[in-house]
Amino acid sequence: MFLKQKVNLSKSTLIRSIQCQKSLYLYKNFFHLRDKISKAQQARFDRGHDIGSLAQQLFPGGKDVSPKSPRHYQQSILATEYLVSQQYPVIYEAAFKADDVLVLLDILVCKDGKWYAYEVKSSKKISETYLQDAAIQYRVITQSGVNLEDFSIIYVNAAYEMPEEEAADLHQLFLETSVLETVRAKQSFIEEAIHTAKATLYSDSIPKISMGEHCDRPYTCDFKGYCLRHSDELDH
Ligand code: SF4
Repeated sequence: MFLKQKVNLSKSTLIRSIQCQKSLYLYKNFFHLRDKISKAQQARFDRGHDIGSLAQQLFPGGKDVSPKSPRHYQQSILATEYLVSQQYPVIYEAAFKADDVLVLLDILVCKDGKWYAYEVKSSKKISETYLQDAAIQYRVITQSGVNLEDFSIIYVNAAYEMPEEEAADLHQLFLETSVLETVRAKQSFIEEAIHTAKATLYSDSIPKISMGEHCDRPYTCDFKGYCLRHSDELDH
């Protein structure tokens, strides 16, 4: 019997939940049992951060409201609310929370009183998981009262060769695709995913789920070490 976890979800924990309910439960209740992060994974995170900063320059002069630490998310949400009320032209890392789900959006743009969302990915193509990411963000942002005129994913142009000795041409480096219709079509799927994740977090025990192909799709689960060590417990 374990302590019940207070429900508090984010885009990444919902994606984790869609991959595996057991992974969500372990992450929220037994975070310390995660596998150590590899150098390759850390390098991917760092690259994602660098690309995000570069893409912000496509919309210069924005106000960055990213939290200094996870303890400061509420301040980011309040800062976002204020800037939205002022129709501030560009907001970086805009924070929203609705239905116990917190999301940050890379770039939120206000043009002629209408709002445009941009999420930046360091990949060269748009995956199904990125579309689910965007669908979660769309749901939380619109439930927070911001009507989005469009939602686009900015990603890396595979055909562009980065110059070695001069700054990259950002308008060549990045591609932009509207995913508005797709994320709208995914809203009932996301609603169900939130419902399922909450049910998992309100339960009293680790979900009994065997290892399989899902452990590496879409991401390599960071509880594989734990599950390998405890695989025999599923037989009882
Ligand atoms: S290793 Fe596989 S079964 Fe275990 S928590 Fe992760 S995804 Fe779920």
